Amino acid sequence: MDLFNWIGALFLGATGRLIAPTSPTGLASYLGAFVVLAMMATVGRRRWPSWRAFRKVVFPKKIFGHASTRADLQFYVLNSVALTSAYGLAVASASFWAEGTMRTLTACFGSHDAPTTPVWLVLAVTTIVEIVMVDLGYWAGHYLLHRIPALWEFHKVHHSAEVMTPLTEWRQHPLEMMLMPNALAIANGLTYGGLTYLFGVAQPLTLWRTNVLLAVFFLTISHLRHSHVWLPFTGFLGRLVHSPAHHQIHHSTDPKHFDKNLGFALSIWDWLFGTLWIPREDERVVFGIGAESAEFHTMSGSLLGPFAKVARRVNPRDRAPETRDPPRPAGPSPSRPDASRDRAAAAG
Ligand SMILES: [Zn+2]
Ligand SMILES: [Zn+2]
Repeated sequence: MDLFNWIGALFLGATGRLIAPTSPTGLASYLGAFVVLAMMATVGRRRWPSWRAFRKVVFPKKIFGHASTRADLQFYVLNSVALTSAYGLAVASASFWAEGTMRTLTACFGSHDAPTTPVWLVLAVTTIVEIVMVDLGYWAGHYLLHRIPALWEFHKVHHSAEVMTPLTEWRQHPLEMMLMPNALAIANGLTYGGLTYLFGVAQPLTLWRTNVLLAVFFLTISHLRHSHVWLPFTGFLGRLVHSPAHHQIHHSTDPKHFDKNLGFALSIWDWLFGTLWIPREDERVVFGIGAESAEFHTMSGSLLGPFAKVARRVNPRDRAPETRDPPRPAGPSPSRPDASRDRAAAAG
């Protein structure tokens, strides 16, 4: 493939992801987050806010002009366009793991005639098991990123965001961009291999070729987890579903929040493994990793810095002071929906 074809393929891939209706990073998912945000800023008010007040709530200047957001934008270009093909080469596909799972199960328990299972039951079981297992893969990969010191140096890039916008999703070191999809592919492969062995077929209920439960998550609240809007799920719902506030707690500089809320769409694995922190309605959170955050607001600091920090960990004479600095007031903390609404009402 010549250079022009290669560049063309990169942009076609990036464009394809943007226009796919249920892509987790497609335009529809960003639009869905915007609609939820707009509803939070307007529903229940006696009168509509002015456009100026609405813009201030949804696109606050102090967030969109922050050095942290400029770094997020550079990561978006790097990870969603420039290196996308390279990441694809580094991920063993889910079908590879599914075939391995099938072979292992057949070797252990022997082959059997697939039972006649009603289609609706296969659809229901696969839809639920897939989202539960994907979340387990995400939880497990994320746990390793936090608990293995060398991996944490790379994961810090994501946690160094001092303000959050949906683009913060892309603020990840290339090493993490290769590790996490592998964790998800293993989880997906185990799911499809196991269910195909049991039922002879595994098929979730889909919306535009995406598991319908994941599609609903992508098209509503998934991008709000990296945003300034405080939307907590509490009580039993907070033990089942990961609200945007769950993930904002995960980005907190407060030591009591460290290594909590490692899930993606669900909270069940955090609940089961003791890493769940249910957000309160009135909780205050400051994002980042303290004074070290600013080191990661440049691409050189983010891409090369983790290697230098790992090298210092390996060389005991050069070892840096341990992990996270004490919390400090950094960027603005997330706004509660009510507060957003109140501010819009006051300004409108
Ligand atoms: Zn994390
Ligand atoms: Zn995050």
